[in-house]
Amino acid sequence: MADKKDGNGGDDDDHKNNPPFPDPEELSKKLTDFLKNSFGDNISFSTVGDGFNPFTQESSGGGEGHDLRTEKPEEDEDRTIFDFDYIPKEIKAHLDRFVIQQDDAKRALSIAVCDHYNHAKYLDRLQRKDPEAAEAVEFNKQNVIVVGPTGCGKTYLIKHIAELIGVPFVKADATKFSETGYVGADVDDLVRELVRKADGDVELAEYGIVYIDEIDKIATRGNSMGRDVSGRGVQTTLLKLMEETEVPLTNPQDIQSQMQAMFTMGKMGGKSKDTINTRHILFIVSGAFSGLEEIIERRISKGAIGFGEDRQAVLTSSKKTAEHLTTGDFLEFGFEAEFIGRLPVRVVCDSLEAEDLFQIMKHSEGSLIRQYEREFESYGIHAQFEDGALQSIAELAAEEKTGARGLITVCERLLRNFKFELPGTAITELAVDADTVDDPSGSLNRLLESAAQIGDSKLLGEITAFRRKFEESHGVRIVLEADAIAEIDTIAKSRNQSALNVCDELFRDYQFGLKLIQNNTGRHTFHLGAEAVRNPDSYLSDLVLASYQGGAGGAISAEG
Ligand code: ADP
Repeated sequence: MADKKDGNGGDDDDHKNNPPFPDPEELSKKLTDFLKNSFGDNISFSTVGDGFNPFTQESSGGGEGHDLRTEKPEEDEDRTIFDFDYIPKEIKAHLDRFVIQQDDAKRALSIAVCDHYNHAKYLDRLQRKDPEAAEAVEFNKQNVIVVGPTGCGKTYLIKHIAELIGVPFVKADATKFSETGYVGADVDDLVRELVRKADGDVELAEYGIVYIDEIDKIATRGNSMGRDVSGRGVQTTLLKLMEETEVPLTNPQDIQSQMQAMFTMGKMGGKSKDTINTRHILFIVSGAFSGLEEIIERRISKGAIGFGEDRQAVLTSSKKTAEHLTTGDFLEFGFEAEFIGRLPVRVVCDSLEAEDLFQIMKHSEGSLIRQYEREFESYGIHAQFEDGALQSIAELAAEEKTGARGLITVCERLLRNFKFELPGTAITELAVDADTVDDPSGSLNRLLESAAQIGDSKLLGEITAFRRKFEESHGVRIVLEADAIAEIDTIAKSRNQSALNVCDELFRDYQFGLKLIQNNTGRHTFHLGAEAVRNPDSYLSDLVLASYQGGAGGAISAEG
């Protein structure tokens, strides 16, 4: 099928037999005529000034009742659409909070984003003072191409950049465009989607970020998808967007949005802007580009005799891939020269190893472990993941070969049953350790057994009261595990004492010992199991001793 060449519709060869699709004004006139002919003069059809817009609420796609166009307040001389005021180091520092590894990518993206938006800001100001001078300024747009395997944080990087600088962000897969015949219309929809994400603020949308993944799938040579023709078509259409073009605010093929535009036009007296300019939209494309490394290696081995020794080492890291990557390699991969020429910033992301996945869980502010902790907390269960567990999870996730996405798969498999079974039981603490990861169902069964033993709410109330009192008085948090609680219950019953009294007595000296350990190790939370209840004194002295030797201390687990 032929690609739609532009957004105007109705004038390409495929549609010769159909009359051209009316623009909003014509549509309004035709509808008025139609209604008059059908119902006579008894019915009026007004689009001007009556404020009635049947499509705003439900069909604009925003779901928030925004018109596609928004009236702007009076312009002031120095006002810019958003005040970009970052330096690359600040952007990188922000990314460091969330994204583990990918140092080179973070640097390159931070610079590209600063260049892009500083230029946009400069041009915007100049435009207000001297439009002719602004028109004459030359600038190479810093559109970016990111090479990296799935799940290594490409989307995550870009999403956080967009969030930090406060611009709308849209992501799509390049493969989606080649699957429909009307390629042009679809690619334009990306830009329209920016307007929706900007809550109808066209001006802000004109500074948004469009991110297109799987761009390697529209390469025309050497890929197995058999999409040569449409691949080239998509490259050509994207090219126009990346450069500068005006995209109609409404899809010309979509009668609903045309009618919406008609009503909006009426409401605003027909004066508002009806296109989006793509000059300042930042385009970032990415893909896994499997086979690209071989292309680079082949080229290097052909060109450099005597370079042989280094050849093996050339592509062992993303840094080296990035250093050696040339435009020619992308051309050989199957991109059009014009297309790749519009993507001057080349960024390479590393694949993530088990150690990186561990670091993500442990240190990323967006760690999914925090999410699990919150989810359990909402059922009144304090979940705590020990390092041993995180290491095992990371290793299992690395085997999935889907980068950090593997973490979601592994955690979901590991914890789904816990999330179903534990809420509503007496369990208020869940310590996830390496054993839990090795044998999740065994661990869950043991927890459920102890939950059955301590299913007494009076007992739990007393245990909680003890823990709170201990933490308030001594600034140290004790977590009694289910088997410890069961032991305490047995003692309380045999002595005919309350569990609170038993705890007070058993752990009488614990504040001193635990404070010592806290001073030695900085730990704040201490998990105590059944052994601590059976032999409290020797258990504590072992712990203290271990803290001087730098050990974790037997069955104890603790967090900072
Ligand atoms: P892709 O490279 O395929 O675009 P994503 O950025 O969508 O991968 O990663 C999926 C999820 O994995 C992210 O939402 C994030 O939670 C996590 N993730 C991926 N890479 C990293 C990383 N380097 N640091 C921290 N989290 C990451």
